[in-house]
Amino acid sequence: MPYSKRELSRELKSLKESGCSGIFISIKAKSLRSRESPKRTNGIVKNLLGQAKAAGLKTGAIVECFHESEYYLTDNCTPPVNYLGASYVPSADYYPICPNNPRAVQLCHSSIEQVTHKFDLDYLYLQHFRFPFFWEKEELDIQNRIPPFCYCPFCVTEFSSVMGEIVSSGEQMVSMMPEWLEWRSEVIQSLLAGIIARISNRIQVIIAHPPLSLIDLPFTTGQLPQRFIEEGCYLSPQLHHKVKQKDLVWVEDLLDQYQLELRANKIFPSFEFDSKIEFDYLTGIAKKFAGILLYHRATKKDHLFS
Ligand SMILES: [Zn+2]
Repeated sequence: MPYSKRELSRELKSLKESGCSGIFISIKAKSLRSRESPKRTNGIVKNLLGQAKAAGLKTGAIVECFHESEYYLTDNCTPPVNYLGASYVPSADYYPICPNNPRAVQLCHSSIEQVTHKFDLDYLYLQHFRFPFFWEKEELDIQNRIPPFCYCPFCVTEFSSVMGEIVSSGEQMVSMMPEWLEWRSEVIQSLLAGIIARISNRIQVIIAHPPLSLIDLPFTTGQLPQRFIEEGCYLSPQLHHKVKQKDLVWVEDLLDQYQLELRANKIFPSFEFDSKIEFDYLTGIAKKFAGILLYHRATKKDHLFS
């Protein structure tokens, strides 16, 4: 922690004065499981969140669900596999894990249980709570005959058991693609039910999703925005325009689409900024929504406005 207690208190005060209403901390599953440092990590996070609360700020934890470089190829957290049986090769900072991998599900549940039991949180932000899709670098192609989904042994076995027949060939998958899509969404939905059952209903759940139109989300990620809302969750489109080399008009267009189809008070967009102009603009539109998460690219900090 690069702050002294006094510096932290000053920083939190200045956040509050800038109109910010809370802070989010990204908590790595690895730090919760590490043999050497869990006590130290817990102490630091508890202290930070406690001071934030004392300063009148809300608190949130960002938990990576199916993405973790440290677990990659270890702990039986296998990478996704394409329909030809080739494993996904991670690039840049993207290390997706299949949400049908039983060990990955276990780790996700255990991280969430630990985070929500140990810390006093208002929000739990689920990052990468979906099937793999590298939205920062890849584009959606709905014309693809066999979409670049995960067809790992866990996926194929689960799907086969739901269909009541062994599905193993590419041709079978093509003919069963509507069922495959529906099944993927059910997988995500039942994972969500498992998470909600594990946490206090005082904690609000926010689910991050790629900046795609709502109609394309189920196809790429298995996420069903309307059903998330029915479960009492907020949706957080990650409108990171710099990553996508877009501008604020792109942000506005997508937000308009979301608002047409969903209630604004269920949307909790995540933006990025690195200039005062962007900061002022984005905080200016915050009042339309349940809240916004502002990611400062230079300091890599998340701030909450609601
Ligand atoms: Zn899989």
